[in-house]
Amino acid sequence: MPAAKRMVAMIENSSFIRKMFEEGTKLKAQYGQDNVYDFSIGNPDVPPPPEFKKTLLDVIENGPGHGYMPNPGWPAARTAVAEYLAKEQGVAMSMDYVMMTPGASAGLNVVLKAILNPGEEVITVAPYFVEYGNYVEVAGGVLKTVPAGPDFGLDPQAVGAAVTAKTRAVLINSPHNPTGAVYTKEQLDGLAGVLEEAKEKFGQRIYLISDEPYRKIVYDGIVVPSVFQAYDHSFVVNSHSKDLSLAGERIGFAALNPKADDAAEIAASMVIALRIYYVNAPSLMQLTVARLQGAVVDVSLYQKRRDMICQGLAEAGYEFTTPGGAFYLFPKSPLADDVAFVNILKEERILVVPGSGFGGPGYFRISYAVPDKTIENSLPGFKRAMEKVG
Ligand code: PLP
Repeated sequence: MPAAKRMVAMIENSSFIRKMFEEGTKLKAQYGQDNVYDFSIGNPDVPPPPEFKKTLLDVIENGPGHGYMPNPGWPAARTAVAEYLAKEQGVAMSMDYVMMTPGASAGLNVVLKAILNPGEEVITVAPYFVEYGNYVEVAGGVLKTVPAGPDFGLDPQAVGAAVTAKTRAVLINSPHNPTGAVYTKEQLDGLAGVLEEAKEKFGQRIYLISDEPYRKIVYDGIVVPSVFQAYDHSFVVNSHSKDLSLAGERIGFAALNPKADDAAEIAASMVIALRIYYVNAPSLMQLTVARLQGAVVDVSLYQKRRDMICQGLAEAGYEFTTPGGAFYLFPKSPLADDVAFVNILKEERILVVPGSGFGGPGYFRISYAVPDKTIENSLPGFKRAMEKVG
């Protein structure tokens, strides 16, 4: 066996999404791109804000060139993010606690590598972004899951019940992939209380990692509460893949709450992890997003699509919780076997991902980061699929 056993296992575990991708490619070749309704991946398709291009061109013309820099990033970028975070999170921040990373995925890997000892546990809420399992494993930890509360909210008591002496961190994601749930301030405060109780009980500090790439993609006036205010011993990981539609450019950051226990040592450990795995985040992008903190794509485009898909699926008899953010919908599968139902949707040339792929069997995920006409043209197929099983 030429590849490492751990990697072979990861290849097998990612087969759902890989299979969907391969079948999608086949269907598109057979029926034509416009006749396949591909809701399988969360690839933002709305354009970046207009100021992005101008800023990038200016950075290319007048920036500091293309050399190495300090591993955590250009001071100007770290400072801009720290200043923005201070406002967004409502706490004092300095650039010493901000690391520019190639997206949220890198930010999460840096944080996990910085804090996990071999065999330590990270708790997350199922369903969950499936890469978390891989990130925790390569950092030497073990991912444990707890069920979500009503409407896919955070259930602090469920987290509390899963804590053991080996728990090192809790990893949350809000707005949430794959459900679109946005956690409330009460839920975050409840979790903070549970983590303080666990500190008393086990004598070890449990850190909270908040994965927030969809923070600015929220609807109906919802405000995402501050994790830094709720709990001192926390990290915020964010990226501009979604809020500026720059997924391919690989730019984001990991920030540590300056009030966290052992903050200076952890920040130093993050810098080493960043250096080993990534060296630094892309230079041009750092300096560009530094000048675009607070900017966001036109969220009304996603909101319109959310409303279109929710209305169409409700009329066809699907059950779901209306998402408050991100660009995903997680309806209940009308068959207990979500993989079987996803195959029925495929007969209608509709591609979605089974909930089982996210630790959420009995559901399926729709990514509505797709053109309006994809949603419009798919609705009769969703209706027929429901009628077939109903
Ligand atoms: N976390 C969640 C919940 C995501 O959905 C994604 C991407 O889809 C990521 C992290 C990784 O994002 P990035 O492109 O910033 O690495």
